[in-house]
Amino acid sequence: DKINEQGTQVFRKKDNQFYLHPWEDLGSFGGNDRTVAVGGEGIYLFDSEGNKLIDGPGGMWCTQIGYGREEMADAIAGQVMRSPYYSPFNLTSDISVLLAEKLARLTPGDLNTVFFTTGGSTAVDSALRLVAFYNNCKGRPNKKRIISRKDAYHGSTYLSASASGKTRDKNYQDFATDIISFIDSPNPFRKPRAMSVEEFRDLKVKELEDKILELGPDNVAAFIAEPVMASGGVVVPPVGYHRMCLDVCRKYDVLYISDEVVTGFGRLGHWFASEEVFDIIPDIITCAKGLTSGYLPLGACIVSDKLMAEMGGEQAKGVIFSNGYTYSGHPVACAAALKNIEIMERENILEHVREIEPYFLSKVKELEDIPIVGNVRGQGLMACVECLLNPEEESPLELDYEMGSRIDSQCQAMGLIVRPVINMNVMSPPLIITREQIDEMFKILRRGIEKAM
Ligand code: PLP
Repeated sequence: DKINEQGTQVFRKKDNQFYLHPWEDLGSFGGNDRTVAVGGEGIYLFDSEGNKLIDGPGGMWCTQIGYGREEMADAIAGQVMRSPYYSPFNLTSDISVLLAEKLARLTPGDLNTVFFTTGGSTAVDSALRLVAFYNNCKGRPNKKRIISRKDAYHGSTYLSASASGKTRDKNYQDFATDIISFIDSPNPFRKPRAMSVEEFRDLKVKELEDKILELGPDNVAAFIAEPVMASGGVVVPPVGYHRMCLDVCRKYDVLYISDEVVTGFGRLGHWFASEEVFDIIPDIITCAKGLTSGYLPLGACIVSDKLMAEMGGEQAKGVIFSNGYTYSGHPVACAAALKNIEIMERENILEHVREIEPYFLSKVKELEDIPIVGNVRGQGLMACVECLLNPEEESPLELDYEMGSRIDSQCQAMGLIVRPVINMNVMSPPLIITREQIDEMFKILRRGIEKAM
């Protein structure tokens, strides 16, 4: 699929002229030199100049089963010919019902009711609207405030963006709405050196309790958290953190929303990480991304039976949860999700992730000896390497904002994409990655960091 040099330039020019990308740096709009993706196979992407690149970030944390799966193409095309659309407002569809049932079976505890969305942002937006609606149903109209965490990312609708605490990103525009409050991120790398991880964890959990008390428990509806913060820099919380946060939430009748948009569908070696990895059964799980391995856009907000029962019943007749999308439960996206899950089951992809995780993380750890590497961290097949101007400094205040991009450019020239986030590079390769491919990936990454120093 090689497009010649001239063709690449034409696409780049048009890209600059017509295409406003997500999180576009408006200062360089019109002057970008983006790689033009034209194909893919397994963990590799092909660009318009004929280069083969390892897809280090797995697209955007989502290409679990890898590119080029004919079965996915067949499932998608088959559904397009059979029934490409129905209105979810007044009809249903066999394929969407089957996926809802499947998701109910994969989620922990009594999380059995599935609301389909168009992606992660709309899943989070729906979850936040649902908890407000829930408290209206319960006659507690003041219980609407949401607690989120600094460095969290929950999406790009107005509400999900306002629940995102991207404080370290100088370009982030504040989308604050006054119902969202923030507590600190539980990033052990940011703890004072003299403090133990357990002390740090207890302090961060106490911040949640203090925030609930400050706002007043009667005003706080929910706490939202990613099991492992993804684009905030793969923040793996101290052991026990989520469990303790859930206990605090239960104490004050605050709902717990686990945003598994990234951690769901095998990223941490399980369908969902909440229960299997972090020992919590939340009230709501949001998911997207790996649900279809990125083949089509789809998300879901999955709600507990308890919540559904409390909102429903006789007294709720005529009370409408006025939230929904033209493409909720889109049958073609649902067909893609069902086929994706079938492939993951058949190929034992969750087991593969659990098996290869220690090797992947050991390779991440090996990067620590590079002088500018301040911290490496990861869990499952998610990892981050954080480079610093002065790694010896206790609390690094000054960041090199171009560091991540420089490393990515160096790596791309050698055949690897590693997503830059300020001074960090994050990785979440397709879950089918092999040991040899992990070796290839880290060999390039090491050289890329060294060249970018
Ligand atoms: N939640 C988390 C944890 C995410 O990482 C993202 C996207 O990266 C979202 C929500 C938003 O998902 P989407 O981009 O599909 O709207």
